[in-house]
Amino acid sequence: MADDLDVIIIGGGVVGCATLFELTNNGYKCLLLDKNKDVLSEASSGNSGMLHTGFDAELHSIELYCIKMCQKKVFPLLKNLGLPYKQIGATMVAWTQQQKVKLDGVYKGSIEKGIDEIFQLSASDVYQREGHLNSGLVGGLWIPKETVLDPWLFPLALLQHSIDGIGMVKTGCEVFGFSHLNNNSCELQTSHGPITAKAVVNCSGLHGDLVDKMAGCQSYSIYPRKGQFTVYGKNTAHLINSSILPVPTEKTKGVIVFKTVYGNVIVGPTAEETESRSVPPDIDSVITRRLFTHTKKTVPELSQYLPLGHYTGLRPATQYKDYQIKAYRDRNWISVGGIRSTGLSGCLGIASMVKSELCTSLNTEPSYGPVTSIDQMEWSFKGNNSVQMNQNVYDFTHPITKYGTQYRSAL
Ligand SMILES: Cc1cc2nc3c(=O)[nH]c(=O)nc-3n(C[C@H](O)[C@H](O)[C@H](O)COP(=O)(O)OP(=O)(O)OC[C@H]3O[C@@H](n4cnc5c(N)ncnc54)[C@H](O)[C@@H]3O)c2cc1C
Repeated sequence: MADDLDVIIIGGGVVGCATLFELTNNGYKCLLLDKNKDVLSEASSGNSGMLHTGFDAELHSIELYCIKMCQKKVFPLLKNLGLPYKQIGATMVAWTQQQKVKLDGVYKGSIEKGIDEIFQLSASDVYQREGHLNSGLVGGLWIPKETVLDPWLFPLALLQHSIDGIGMVKTGCEVFGFSHLNNNSCELQTSHGPITAKAVVNCSGLHGDLVDKMAGCQSYSIYPRKGQFTVYGKNTAHLINSSILPVPTEKTKGVIVFKTVYGNVIVGPTAEETESRSVPPDIDSVITRRLFTHTKKTVPELSQYLPLGHYTGLRPATQYKDYQIKAYRDRNWISVGGIRSTGLSGCLGIASMVKSELCTSLNTEPSYGPVTSIDQMEWSFKGNNSVQMNQNVYDFTHPITKYGTQYRSAL
């Protein structure tokens, strides 16, 4: 393994892949390590696959900053890489007067946050757009920029682009120790032996606090939050035109009825606190019934279809609502933690923040010059379980890709 590394990135979730992409594009020689056999197999393998606009992120938060930066970069990048996405928009709906008051608050808050593509709808406007919604609505919001994409192909393409250049990836490699060396570099103890670099970026998601602790840096704790989904076939795609969002609460965006980039309709995610960090968490039949009730109340006709299946995911939540991104100059360590429920939506912004921290707080210079062009990715699905991307074959780890491609001819 290379001994002249600029940066080691711990963790191959969406945040680590985006960080690898940003740093290698800026000339940093990087190695990404992941303890699992496949990258993208923890928090990033159980999300909803939506690029959110930040309507529920707090004003002046790091999360909002990263989402907005990502929004600017992500669409040209998806086009350049040739990856699937659909800007189908979202309709946020209120069923009670109390929810309508909150909905008005979301509208005002979004305008204040600079999310100006958000529009108020009367109940009849909503029904004109979404004719299969249950009766009884009192109002809605239209957020046209909410987008669905393949949440696995996108970070995978970022990783593949990086390793086609100066990036390297080692999977099945667990990091369990850290030393700061006298020559101002870092040494990681790993299951593949010691590895040194000028700096380390910790993107280890559900284990972020434990990995920070091994470097003597700890500013947050992970409190995993589970989410469960029910997946329907593409024969239900006509039932909704956009993602149907409930009015969000302090803690969660709530259960969404959305259509994936492949046309499956999905209902979820729920939000339950859990102590286990094991991924994926079990499917809970009580929650399955709760999702069914939500489906019946929101899009009654959808509840008449038999679901294809269910899946779960685990959010790396902390005691804080905001992302926890912090540089430890005395250890050449950057911690990127608590990327709870918008990691996909904010990843390119997060990666850009990491790059600035590396330059300004850690004074780490890249060994190479920047990459000037991002070429179209050559990719095609192989059978029902994998994708070939340039010279590499990767097995699916995300249910949205699995359901979307396995049933492509059947439905
Ligand atoms: C139910 C649910 C719905 C969501 N919906 C959305 C959505 O629609 N849109 C959106 O933007 N976001 C969504 N999210 C959030 C998003 O999925 C997360 O923010 C994101 O996946 C976090 O990525 P990560 O890279 O920080 O963590 P992970 O994906 O968990 O990656 C961390 C990696 O670090 C590795 N690792 C950990 N410890 C070590 C170690 N010691 N040595 C080596 N490797 C290590 C792990 O193996 C793992 O691969 C959702 C999340 C969930 C659970």
